[in-house]
Amino acid sequence: MPFRERAQMSDPKLAVTVSDLASATAAINGGAGLIYFSGQVYKRAPRDLFSELTKAWALGQERGVPVFAHVERITENHVLPEIKESLSKQQFDGLLVGNFGSWELLKDFERPIHTDLSFNVFNSWAADLLAQAGASVITPSLELQLSQVRELCQLSPVPTSIVVHGPLESMVTKHCMYRDQGCEYQCQSQGPLEICDKKGYCFPIYFDRWCHMHIFNSRELSLLGHLDQVKASGVRYLRIEGRTKEPTWIRRTLDLYRRGLAGEHIEIPGEFTKGHYFRGVL
Ligand SMILES: [Zn+2]
Repeated sequence: MPFRERAQMSDPKLAVTVSDLASATAAINGGAGLIYFSGQVYKRAPRDLFSELTKAWALGQERGVPVFAHVERITENHVLPEIKESLSKQQFDGLLVGNFGSWELLKDFERPIHTDLSFNVFNSWAADLLAQAGASVITPSLELQLSQVRELCQLSPVPTSIVVHGPLESMVTKHCMYRDQGCEYQCQSQGPLEICDKKGYCFPIYFDRWCHMHIFNSRELSLLGHLDQVKASGVRYLRIEGRTKEPTWIRRTLDLYRRGLAGEHIEIPGEFTKGHYFRGVL
């Protein structure tokens, strides 16, 4: 049974998902308290998936910022050996895992485990189960209302992290749209693309290094205008999704959240979604 660390009411830290060293550097310089390094998920050759992880980790060491490796939520059997091989050459502080399979395969690394959104934690029983299995931070389901997140934080034996800002993935397909034309990773030179519906909503599409197609929500998430309520919920980490973004966006977004958490009223132009945080699914 892990140490039962209750969520605290102190200001949450900012966590950022990043794809490369430049973005990790921007996040660390911007005051991030935790880095989830996803590696070159949306690119392929010539680099290893996690080729820049150790450099990001070393910078994190200097600044006292943990750098975790982020493993995708969908990891087919043929993908896992590549991930394990790539990680075996790197240094990192922990793992953000997206499913039980990668957790099982990567437990040999003996690093702290955080669980991702895809574990779809909806209640404290699920949080208990994951904590007993060794998770030290859980990311509750994106479909929880903020009031339910608050309830979960009070009952969870381990701290929680919620996604507060950035592009949200709606769907992943096993094959990219160029599959019938014999695509062998050429899709990545075509992307990112977007598909638009009749109402004019456009959905960004990214192709990953395994030829999967990731379709994102037409609007990005932002809880910038609700940080008092987010702070009151008791979450430990607020996560910014920067995997598809440039370092300048990451730095700017972190600045906005740091100012917002300090009490400044922040408004940003553009249309955003608040997800289900104020409009639940149950
Ligand atoms: Zn493809």
